[in-house]
Amino acid sequence: MNNPMSPNPQRRLLVIGIDGATYDLLDPMIEHGLLPNLAALMKRGFRAGLRSTIPPNSAAAWATFMTGKNPGRHGVLRFQATRPTNDLGTEFRPGAYTFFNSDSVAGRRVWDVIGATGKRVAVMNVPMTYPPGPINGIMITGLLTPPGAKDFTWPPEFAASLEGYQIEQPLATMGYSRAADRELIRSSLEILEQQGETALRLLAREPWDFFFVCFTGTDRIQHRLWNHLERIKDEGGRMRDEATRNRRAADEDIEDAEFFRENLERYYGLLDATIGRLVEAAGEQANCIVLSDHGFGPAPQRAVYRRALARQLGLEAGEGAGGFYGLRAWLERHGILSGDRVRRFLVGARLRRVLSRLTRLALRKEQEAWRSSRAYLVILHKYIGGIGINLAPSDPEYETLRQSLMARLTDVRDPDSGEPIIAAVWRREEIYHGPRIEVCPDVVFRLDVRYGLAHGESPGGSLVTPKAFRSRGIHRDEGILVVAGPDVVHAACDKFFRIEDATATALYLLDTPIPTDMDGQAIVEALTSGYRASHAVRLEHVAEESPSATMAAARWRSIADEEAVAEQLRHWGYLD
Ligand SMILES: [Zn+2]
Repeated sequence: MNNPMSPNPQRRLLVIGIDGATYDLLDPMIEHGLLPNLAALMKRGFRAGLRSTIPPNSAAAWATFMTGKNPGRHGVLRFQATRPTNDLGTEFRPGAYTFFNSDSVAGRRVWDVIGATGKRVAVMNVPMTYPPGPINGIMITGLLTPPGAKDFTWPPEFAASLEGYQIEQPLATMGYSRAADRELIRSSLEILEQQGETALRLLAREPWDFFFVCFTGTDRIQHRLWNHLERIKDEGGRMRDEATRNRRAADEDIEDAEFFRENLERYYGLLDATIGRLVEAAGEQANCIVLSDHGFGPAPQRAVYRRALARQLGLEAGEGAGGFYGLRAWLERHGILSGDRVRRFLVGARLRRVLSRLTRLALRKEQEAWRSSRAYLVILHKYIGGIGINLAPSDPEYETLRQSLMARLTDVRDPDSGEPIIAAVWRREEIYHGPRIEVCPDVVFRLDVRYGLAHGESPGGSLVTPKAFRSRGIHRDEGILVVAGPDVVHAACDKFFRIEDATATALYLLDTPIPTDMDGQAIVEALTSGYRASHAVRLEHVAEESPSATMAAARWRSIADEEAVAEQLRHWGYLD
């Protein structure tokens, strides 16, 4: 409650999410003078490392930030379910695995906890927030909003004032070609500008105590253009001269390198300027948190193929995309048809019906295989995999089977070098806890960073082959966390905090009690002694959910919407 006698008057909190931001890129850019606003924020605030979720993907990590809970409580490990849906229904589904949306994330959101105390909230572009529901303020949903959806705001009528608003990059930018790469950076700039202006307008116009805006273009850009970013990182402004001097390189390459250097610097510069304007507009009395959901780094050079790995582990079933997507992916991978042409070609109604039938057959076969197998392999992220066991943990054979699978995983070696491929193997209860732990695979493992998991079968069926993944950059576990404002100390801290700790810190900074079913803990060392002396960390006692709590089903308006979202994720390489 507002207390005029308090030595610390009621503060507001601005949270800015930068999808995939990493110090590995930002620090060199700051050194080159490209990000003056972020540099200033870090200098006057508290800067630390952020530990993402396992797996470090946007779905799991943002779900953890918005709930303050680990995936064992909120139930989301990736963009789609980790077990095939039991009932494929009568309509065509994009895969055997239901795609998630905000319905699938269990638990109260941080903005609901804040809103319940009477404070006003504004939430913009956060992944996994579609479809929106009632909140004490306004919302524009983020990634996983079906392209063209009209119901992307709360309150619903708010959408009418956002004519032409773009939530994500159009699919046209998502082919894999020089032209598509250029289009990606062009449209990213346009979207960032539009979202930045919208955020500034809402920040000035709406009453708010908690304002949370997420910028996700960084993730798309880093996936696709990491090679160009590496050059900026390493060479900064020197590149232009070197490229011009070095006429041995093809003119086209020089032109390309120049184009991307210029436009990527423009993109990160605009992002920095937007952050600067938002922080300034929030005012000196507002505290501010800038965080990413995970970090980024170069893609691995070697692929570990799912089917060969499953064979080596003695597993029969694994996940597969099925006929329609399998065929299309194969055509695209072999350069026979580009994405757009394939789409036009395959949407022919009759052909699509045939493929749909084939897909259903493939999916049914996969479900049968899954049901009849004792254990199955699941890819959670490029370098995180899991094994689900089709036995109850109380079954006398469960632990024996699990131990033997874990031992086999530890033994997996690169046939060329003889070196181990798998860097860590966990029982699920070592990393997850909570009522939805059953949705987590029974065993989770992490590959050495030099390897990435690939779907399907390698040419020749070998376990490992050199591979140029379509994504030049992939996620890393370590993200960024910067807290600044009147109640924050000036310090650079080399510790890592969990992403859910940032959630608890947000609540503490708003003097809001932290629900006891949240896993995060407020980072008190980031705050001034004055703030800590006048504000105790308060807890709100919440009854634990029963461990049998089931997953909420994602309610899509239509299969077509779910399919459109799946297609977007597939084109961005998130389902590779
Ligand atoms: Zn992300």
